Amino acid sequence: MSLLPEELFQMALNIQDPWFIEKIDFSPETKRLDIWIDFVPGSRFDCPDCKIPECTPYDTSEKIWRHLNFFQFKTYLHCRVPRVQCKRCGIQQVTVPWAREQSGFTLWMDALMVLLARKMTISAIAEHIDEHDTRIWRVIGHYVEEALSKQDLSSVTSLGIDETACTRGHKYVSLVVNLDNSKVIHISKGKDASVVSSFKEDFSVHDGNPENVQRFCCDMSPAFIKGIEENFPAASITFDKFHVMKIMNEAVDAVRREEQAVNQVLRKTRFIWLKSPDHLTERQQNELGSLKDMNLKTVRAYNIKMSLAGFWNNWNSDIAGAYLKKWYFWATHSKLKPIVKAAKTMKRHWDGIMNYIDSRISNGVLEGINSIVQSLKASARGYRNISNFMTMIYLRCGDLHFKLPT
Ligand SMILES: [Zn+2]
Repeated sequence: MSLLPEELFQMALNIQDPWFIEKIDFSPETKRLDIWIDFVPGSRFDCPDCKIPECTPYDTSEKIWRHLNFFQFKTYLHCRVPRVQCKRCGIQQVTVPWAREQSGFTLWMDALMVLLARKMTISAIAEHIDEHDTRIWRVIGHYVEEALSKQDLSSVTSLGIDETACTRGHKYVSLVVNLDNSKVIHISKGKDASVVSSFKEDFSVHDGNPENVQRFCCDMSPAFIKGIEENFPAASITFDKFHVMKIMNEAVDAVRREEQAVNQVLRKTRFIWLKSPDHLTERQQNELGSLKDMNLKTVRAYNIKMSLAGFWNNWNSDIAGAYLKKWYFWATHSKLKPIVKAAKTMKRHWDGIMNYIDSRISNGVLEGINSIVQSLKASARGYRNISNFMTMIYLRCGDLHFKLPT
């Protein structure tokens, strides 16, 4: 069996009646492959709007779409696309099966760009396929928006929220994560209480039920706390344990800085007190061991921090409650000002810290997401605007399903 090139491409592109490939022009000089598609004379088409069948063509207009390269040759599809006269809707342009309306790319080309954007920056894709990045952003934006509009949030019960800096300036976006599958489901500009209410609106639109949200994790930001209490009254708030430990670490560091001014032995020891012991090198571990034998304020502060770190291993809330009370007494009687201050912060957020014992949720997953976001930011020369940046976070960290040819 031998196939004509037209038949071969017809099969490869899945071009079906009434469409057919009329001619192919292959030009090695200009490194182009041009394929002309036409429709059988006398064909009737569905109205693209109301789907009424058997509409007669009224006129046609020439369109061009960029398709996947044929080896190293840029490939373009051409077609005179008919406009039909619909009894109900008037004159309408027919939708072709190989491309979206108004798009200059075929669906396969769209699919390639979406696939590449999951791993590559848009500027790298632009260079790779030799297209302007704004055209690629438009395609990616379209598919992300479409997939987001179909998000089903009806089964969501555990949420985490955290803010992240999105530009080199001081602009922030807040990310909401479904803690059951670790996917970003919502991004809003800013980090005030309104981000929670705008999330609630979006959540409800996607069949999420605020009454079903049992657990909500956040840092101790009053804006988030207020937003969650007002919009998700059924949720118990758990303060993120990494954030709690960060406050404790800052207190230890403050004690160390003050003491270092009068005690040279603490010079260049900053990270030893902040890192978890199993992340220290052997040399650092030895150094920590000998410092711990000295009578230092920093050592006391460190021991209080390590004791709080042990709190999270409790599973029984009565035991955990007693543990935290004992810890609080120790910390507030330490005579170390930064530690006393940190302990009082814990006291004001007691219930949300205790809630961890039952909920076991943290924003640890958001730390990982945040590092993806920060690496996106580092390669962000070509973002052009915050919306593109948000599109990219959804694409890399969201739970999106795309309707695209494979
Ligand atoms: Zn119609």
